[in-house]
Amino acid sequence: MQQRFIRNVAIIAHVDHGKTTLVDQLFKHSGMFRENQAVAERLMDSMDLERERGITITAKNGSYRYGDYWINIIDTPGHADFGGQVERVLRMADGALLLVDAQEGPMPQTYFVLKKALANRLPVIVVVNKIDKPAARCEWVVDQVFDLFVKLNAPDEILDFPVVYTSAKQGYALNDPAEAVVDGGSMAPVSEMIVKHIPAPAGSPDMPLQMQVGTIDYSPYLGRLGIGKVVNGTLAINQPVVVARRDGSIRPVRISKIFHFDRDQKIAVDRASTGEIVAIAGMEDVTVGVTFTDPDDPRPLPLIDIDPPTISMD
Ligand code: GDP
Repeated sequence: MQQRFIRNVAIIAHVDHGKTTLVDQLFKHSGMFRENQAVAERLMDSMDLERERGITITAKNGSYRYGDYWINIIDTPGHADFGGQVERVLRMADGALLLVDAQEGPMPQTYFVLKKALANRLPVIVVVNKIDKPAARCEWVVDQVFDLFVKLNAPDEILDFPVVYTSAKQGYALNDPAEAVVDGGSMAPVSEMIVKHIPAPAGSPDMPLQMQVGTIDYSPYLGRLGIGKVVNGTLAINQPVVVARRDGSIRPVRISKIFHFDRDQKIAVDRASTGEIVAIAGMEDVTVGVTFTDPDDPRPLPLIDIDPPTISMD
C-alpha cells in the first residue's frame, strides 16, 4: 500500500448520532466500485472462512478503498475515558471526522474526544448527519460546533473546518444541505473530503521499524490482537523484531500473523508498510503502548500519557 494513498481517520461521535450507520455506508458504497469487484469476489472466499472462524471485528475499525486511496477508519470510545484509551487510539490517526446529529447538535460526550483530537493537532472534518430528519437544523448545528471549537481554543486554521452533510441512513452525502440528492445519492463527498483535508501518514519507510500498539481486540479464533500503526519502516511476517515494553525491557518476538482491514474484515497479509494500520496475532501478552522495533536499532516510541478521567464540560 503506497503511503501517499493512505488516510488514517478517527471517528468521533456522541452515542446514537450515527457512527455505525455511517461507517457501514462508507464500506457498502466502496464495495460497489466496479473495478473492485473481482478483488471483492476473491476476498469473499477468505472472508467466508473468517466468518466461520468468527474473526469478524466488532469495533467500527475498518478500511475501505476510494479510488486510489485506502481510508482507515479508527473508532474512538465516545464515553469519558479511563486510562488514556482515547489518546492511544488518536495516536494512530492523522485526522478526525466529528459526526454530529443534525437536530441535536454536539453533546457532552462529543466534547471530551474532540478536546483530545484538538490537543493532538488533528485536522477535523465536521459531518452533520441525519439531515433527512424533518427537524434537522443544519445551520444551527454548525454554529454550535463552531462555538465548541472556540471554547476549546482551536487554532484559526482548525476553526475554518470543512463541513459535509449526510443521511447515513439513506446513504447520501452533500456538500451543501440545500443541494438535491441525485440518483439516490452517494457517500463520495465524505471520502473526497477525507482525501483532500487529511494528510497521508508521516513516517519513513527507510527508517528502522516502529509499530506501536494503540488498541487491543479479541477474536475467538486468533486470540488477542494488537492493532496499531506502522509509524516507520516495514513489518513482515517472521522478520526478527523486538518488543519494547513499558518497564524498559526489550525482548525478541516472532510475528506470525499480520492482518489488514478490508471493510469490516481482517485479511491476512505478509507485510505492512509505513503508515498502514494492521492487527497482529499470535502474541497472547501483547499490551497497549508497546513498540515492535528493529533488534539492530531498537527505537521504542514514547509511552502514551494517561490522563485522569474527565467528566465535566469545563
Ligand atoms: P452510533 O451509536 O453512533 O453508532 O449510532 P447508530 O449508527 O447505531 O445510529 C443510531 C440510530 O440513528 C439508529 O436507529 C439509526 O438508524 C439512526 N440513524 C443513523 N443515521 C441516520 C440518518 O442519517 N438519519 C436518520 N433519520 N436516522 C439515522
